[in-house]
Amino acid sequence: MPETATALAPTSPLSDRLLAMTEPATIAMVKKARELMAKGIDVINLSFGEPDFQTPQYIKDAAKQALDDGYTFYTPVPGIPELRQVICEKFKRDNQLDFQPNQIVVSTGAKQALANAVLSLVNPGDEVIVFSPYWVSYEEMVKLAEGVTVTLRGTLANEYKVTAAQLEAAITPRTKLVMYSSPCNPTGAVFSREELGAIAEVLARYPQVYALADEIYEYINFVGEHASLAHFAEVADRVITVNGFSKGYAMTGWRLGYLAARPDIAAACEKMQSQITSGTCSITQRAGVAALRGGRASADEMVAAYRRRRDLVLGIVKDIPGFKTPTPSGAFYIFPEVSAYFGRTAPDGSTINNALDLAMFLLNDARVSAVSGDAFGAPECIRFSTAAADEKLVEAFGRIKASLAKL
Ligand code: PMP
Repeated sequence: MPETATALAPTSPLSDRLLAMTEPATIAMVKKARELMAKGIDVINLSFGEPDFQTPQYIKDAAKQALDDGYTFYTPVPGIPELRQVICEKFKRDNQLDFQPNQIVVSTGAKQALANAVLSLVNPGDEVIVFSPYWVSYEEMVKLAEGVTVTLRGTLANEYKVTAAQLEAAITPRTKLVMYSSPCNPTGAVFSREELGAIAEVLARYPQVYALADEIYEYINFVGEHASLAHFAEVADRVITVNGFSKGYAMTGWRLGYLAARPDIAAACEKMQSQITSGTCSITQRAGVAALRGGRASADEMVAAYRRRRDLVLGIVKDIPGFKTPTPSGAFYIFPEVSAYFGRTAPDGSTINNALDLAMFLLNDARVSAVSGDAFGAPECIRFSTAAADEKLVEAFGRIKASLAKL
């Protein structure tokens, strides 16, 4: 082969886009925990954002019925008409928001709804303000769209919630989108109506800026009121509201989420989805119709358990020195600030330099898997899921406390 041809040979067949992307740290940590479990080591997995409840029976029954009815064909890309209709009814009932079915796009999980919106709105070089700590995939989705992530950190004293003043100071002529989750994964913070009202007031002054409000944890809320940014008329037509079934209805494996937006934005998201996945699973969508028609009673039962577990864990964690843990108002995580342990020496002589080292130490010593805050834009924190049985949580945090005492 001539020398020039050798020189030009690519070293990797993979795209720059792919190489720039990182695997979600949550998934990476679960992989490590599973490796240890496969060796017979008893690991308590608190790294995944997954309800430990079964999907309610009435929803499973609807899926069985769909199969028996032979409901096995392609569906319209943005979702079956019945489901888009009940999603509108849900928005009216739970959020006092008026949407028409042509404003709803049903997707393969809330994750795809978020990706559709980011890819449909963000041009290369556009700035996307992401409230931090943030859910792991936001930054990677922005990267995929060749946008520039601008993270904004709330203070621990304010439960890490970003304020309207912080937002205003970060907006530039290049800002296109603002992204956040409330209730928040990983912090559990919930924006109040007043806080979102102040954010809406800021956004109203910048008509080029859109907002992606991730409300997937809506039902898992311990403070009562769930507020939506779309509620504020001055910005409603620039808000894309994302929600789904994974958390509230314990339907992670079914892959069902949706967004609600202005008709032209919804149409854009439909177009994006039409070339990537088409409509999501027909059977899942029929199950989704049943889920929403059943209201939120099943979710309320699960929420009672999540609240009990949160309190149980906070009760143990308050006696762990060096853990600064705001009380989560929603979702099913605790997110302590753990920097007091940085610089300490483990029994094997290694130094705990950061949250990743601490998470690895806890995995190896306490045999509890958790996720380092780096993945969420908060490298001084660790995220523990509290979506596990009470006795597992007691055991896990007992072990964590004992292991940390060795540092
Ligand atoms: N947003 C947040 C904040 C999440 O925590 C998750 C799931 N971990 C998702 C979106 C994606 O949910 P889905 O399973 O519906 O894709």
